[in-house]
Amino acid sequence: MLRYIHKLQTKDLSLVNAMIPLGSCTMKLNATAEMVPVTWNEFGGLHPFAPREQAEGYQTLFSQLETWLAEITGYSGISLQPNAGSQGEYAGLLVVRKYHQSRGESHRDVCLIPTSAHGTNPASAVMAGMQVVVVACDTDGNIDLEDLQLKADKHRENLAAAMITYPSTHGVFEEKIREICDIVHQSGGQVYMDGANLNALVGIGQPADIGADVCHLNLHKTFCIPHGGGGPGMGPIGVKAHLRDFLPTHPLVTVGAAPWGSSGILPISWAYIAMMGTQGLTAATEVAILNANYIAKRLAPHYPVLYTGKNGLVAHECIIDLRAFKKSADIDVTDVAKRLMDYGFHAPTVSWPVPGTMMIEPTESESRAELERFCDALISIREEITEIEAGIADQVDNVLKNAPHTVEMVTQSEWDHSYSRERAVFPKPWVREAKFWPAVARINEVYGDRNLMCTCPPVSEY
Ligand SMILES: *Cc1c(COP(=O)(O)O)cnc(C)c1O
Repeated sequence: MLRYIHKLQTKDLSLVNAMIPLGSCTMKLNATAEMVPVTWNEFGGLHPFAPREQAEGYQTLFSQLETWLAEITGYSGISLQPNAGSQGEYAGLLVVRKYHQSRGESHRDVCLIPTSAHGTNPASAVMAGMQVVVVACDTDGNIDLEDLQLKADKHRENLAAAMITYPSTHGVFEEKIREICDIVHQSGGQVYMDGANLNALVGIGQPADIGADVCHLNLHKTFCIPHGGGGPGMGPIGVKAHLRDFLPTHPLVTVGAAPWGSSGILPISWAYIAMMGTQGLTAATEVAILNANYIAKRLAPHYPVLYTGKNGLVAHECIIDLRAFKKSADIDVTDVAKRLMDYGFHAPTVSWPVPGTMMIEPTESESRAELERFCDALISIREEITEIEAGIADQVDNVLKNAPHTVEMVTQSEWDHSYSRERAVFPKPWVREAKFWPAVARINEVYGDRNLMCTCPPVSEY
């Protein structure tokens, strides 16, 4: 069994192999010391509904964590109930609804959401019974203030909330954030801040101070809970004082089956904050921003960086634009993502929030050497694209189109590609040192996701 499980594990590229620069996902290399307590029976062996007097240690952990998260965000109330960022959004919007109801304004049900928002935002708004009104972004990727004002005025009577991501999903600190919040407030709405990008904020800015009334935090992003493969998450919400009475601890507002969400993984975030301390958390944010800007600057001569703030800087992630290669070399973002596997890297976030681009988030975990390796890989891939553009490499049979290359492919006796096996799988000398072999080559990309097939027998056969 151990060998079987290990065999499966070796097919998976994880943070023990290389950085996973998935933009907006904040994939940090979490410390083993943070993880160990999860295995302790005192934490892992307790039932979520064990009598309170048998779970006093957990109560201490909850209240300390709530206090710390309140300090970090500037909020006066925290709920640890939501199990994910998306559930935090849902919970936060229900809080907003209850607030409006309490003021005799239950008709307020319009939710303004910018086009750049994460897909969970409109989904949560709809689940919370709201109507989504989309707000445009300008060419710099910021929320279009004119359009926001227009929509806020138009829905003045029914405005419930606006959902704003800060820093934005375009990886930029939106300078007009306070004005944005003011516009929403002046029209009677509450501001929900999507706090998934808090890794760019902890210790240097507070959602409450920016003007947001309610916000979720992804403990499985910013606060180190590992989340590859969709494992359990935690999306607690924080609220300003006027919303405290409507938090999910209230019997009328419940969003999770257990009162403190996925409490078994909270020791990870607790340990992270405890070990980092105030200075450490601030330093982590600073290094996360520095790392992203380093990558943006190193890649800029090779790939256009799509959005930056007015000083030419990004926040904790950056978007590189690959759309021009479609025309010049018939190469798209997927080809580059697949080719990165040959270099031993997990691709960044692909085609989100802008189709045809890559969003790169290095986090503070990565060393200078790893950042260099990653940039070297992307720059080398750019050179491979140049060869196609120049007609040196074949338009159809090239290292990008055939990537990733598996052991199976390169160990065949026959090799009829226009480039060498060595180039295919060892494009840089350092790849040899710890080659990660992709288990399979391309199959059918999104075909399987879009064409659902049921493999169970028809009901009549049961
Ligand atoms: C990850 C993310 C979410 C959703 O969080 P989940 O925990 O995956 O539900 C929402 N908004 C943004 C910007 C995110 O990056």
